[in-house]
Amino acid sequence: MNAQKQITALRNLLHKHNHSYYVLDSPTISDYDFDMKLKELQALEAAHPEFYDPTSPSLRVGGAVTKNFETLKHNFRMYSLDNSYSKEDLQNWETRIKKQVDGPVSYTCELKYDGASISLTYLNGNLLRAVTRGDGHQGDDVTTNIKTIKSVPLQLKGDFPDNFEIRGEIVLPFDGFNKMNQVRVAAGEDPFRNPRNTASGSLKLQDSALVAKRPLECFLYSLVGDNLPVTTQMQGLEKAAAWGFKVPNIAKLVSSIDEVLDFVNYWDGHRSDLPYETDGVVIKVNNLQQQEELGFTAKAPRWAMAYKFKTERVSTKLEKITYQVGRTGAITPVANLAPVALAGTTVKRASLHNADQIALLDIREGDTVYVEKGGEIIPKIVGVNIALRDDASIATVYKDKCPQCDTLLSRTQGDAKHYCPNEQGCPPQIIGRIQHFISRKAMDIEGLGGETVALLVNQGVIQSYADLYDLTIEDLLPLERMAQKSAENLVAGVAHSKQISFERVLFAIGIRYVGETVAKKLAKHFKSIDALMTASFKELVEVDEIGDRIAQSVIDFFELEDTADLFSPVNTSGERNREMITRLKNHNLQLAVSAETLVGQTSILKGNTFVVSGVFTKISRTELKKRIEDNGGKVSSSISSKTTYVVAGDNMGPSKQTKAEGLGIPIISEDQFLEMI
Ligand code: AMP
Ligand code: ZN
Repeated sequence: MNAQKQITALRNLLHKHNHSYYVLDSPTISDYDFDMKLKELQALEAAHPEFYDPTSPSLRVGGAVTKNFETLKHNFRMYSLDNSYSKEDLQNWETRIKKQVDGPVSYTCELKYDGASISLTYLNGNLLRAVTRGDGHQGDDVTTNIKTIKSVPLQLKGDFPDNFEIRGEIVLPFDGFNKMNQVRVAAGEDPFRNPRNTASGSLKLQDSALVAKRPLECFLYSLVGDNLPVTTQMQGLEKAAAWGFKVPNIAKLVSSIDEVLDFVNYWDGHRSDLPYETDGVVIKVNNLQQQEELGFTAKAPRWAMAYKFKTERVSTKLEKITYQVGRTGAITPVANLAPVALAGTTVKRASLHNADQIALLDIREGDTVYVEKGGEIIPKIVGVNIALRDDASIATVYKDKCPQCDTLLSRTQGDAKHYCPNEQGCPPQIIGRIQHFISRKAMDIEGLGGETVALLVNQGVIQSYADLYDLTIEDLLPLERMAQKSAENLVAGVAHSKQISFERVLFAIGIRYVGETVAKKLAKHFKSIDALMTASFKELVEVDEIGDRIAQSVIDFFELEDTADLFSPVNTSGERNREMITRLKNHNLQLAVSAETLVGQTSILKGNTFVVSGVFTKISRTELKKRIEDNGGKVSSSISSKTTYVVAGDNMGPSKQTKAEGLGIPIISEDQFLEMI
């Protein structure tokens, strides 16, 4: 088979498997086989850039970076919806409808997904563009990011119209949202507050590879265009599903407002069983002819109505405010409540976030508080019933000492949280740091779990993650529930972790704000812990996507205080951390990028920004970009005054050429570039 045929066959195959997995929820291939096929396709595409296709399934993994999202005008305005809250509201709506249209009216009831709305345009069955709602008249072009959402078809099947739009909602299911937060918390970052904001924030991330990692879903529910081959909303959903879209599977056709209310009541009671957030029901006149007769008000269609679920709110007594200490020393105040039933669960605790939040609502122990569970999964306290407050009540004084080690808490300006600064002596911090170190995405130490870590620390066997590497079977055997076999496994697991790559070691050592992605960037740039330890603030912020906050945190982590103050503790934390690194080095952990990864890497292009355009003959576009980055250069997607060179292949875009010429930016050929490196 020739390469082109092979590429086409692989693309078709992957489109099919994607559809089965993400749209139909019934996988037809193992994850492993899928990855292998995708790799095969990526390799072929890299070797044959001439067969580039903007709808290839390989684009699902992302990679393109958008600095500024282009504003595009909607061909058809994206309206808002009118809201209703009662049976009466709905009856009034029906009366208005009946005045305008003849004949019986039936309705489709759909869930109102709480996410970010999106409009997709398909031209000849290919996804052309994806635009956010914006102000309804114009929105942002987020096509590159949307392509990474696996349930959005890049190519359609069946009898689709040549040119149409389809609208829907991007949502982040609870499950994926919770997993993302676990990772963030492990990296010392604040968790995201709710799935909706996280979903809409994701669409505006500059790096599409990050979007690809977020488990976003897209439900499409509304066809827009001229001469569509459908006559009802319900038929529209059916057709869209046949063309390959993920449409809401909960949609019901009813013929009266009473039946609408049955649907509303059912889902109000069952929405907590759904894997994603809904904040109501959307009711639409089913017949498109009738929809057209009804038309729009200035703001919303007259043929549709949202029915908002009431956010469930209960009141209960706040018995006590306690404080939790995290791995990074961050303090979280927790409200301990008199148990109360709310949205299908019993709530006993709620996060109070930070001192400001408590002060803002003037929350006090003994208060009767209102607890809500709406969008957020975690219940939150939204207010206090002051009328029920006891005369003897006193305002909450935020704790000033660590609840675990009694050290005075500190709070830096601009940070909402208080921290316990006793990094080396505060038990939850010591244990948390080691638990993070051994976790799956960090050193992935087999045979050692979080509880054993706590036991080892509490028994005084270890005090730091470096101590793990000195552990012997004899040290472990005296511990409760530690048999010979498990002790052997633990020691072997620790030894095995010495092979873990530098970027993961860098993530594991627990520098605040250095999560997985940042660790990768730092490892790639500095290549060894020694280089990172000696890097200045300026050198750090020069690295792509490393901001002031991360840079300062890295500096603080390794900082040696040279003030010869007799009263200062012997070991500053910077000194301790450096000592820890030396010990890890002596144990032969990977504290530099391995020789294999270093092959072909230089810094000769440092300080230069490249824009790559056109089709290349010697190496693929992806390879070209990789070589720019491997040699210390930056790749950017659009030409600006910051661009140093444009590398042009065949068929370079004419607008890019004019722009480069206008700004006087040199345009070089593939050969000239290869000579440079
Ligand atoms: P609002 O923003 O409250 O005016 O509500 C209008 C928004 O609801 C639309 O822009 C959609 O993004 C969203 N929505 C969620 N689910 C649906 C649905 N099934 N049908 C129509 N709109 C929906
Ligand atoms: Zn403490």
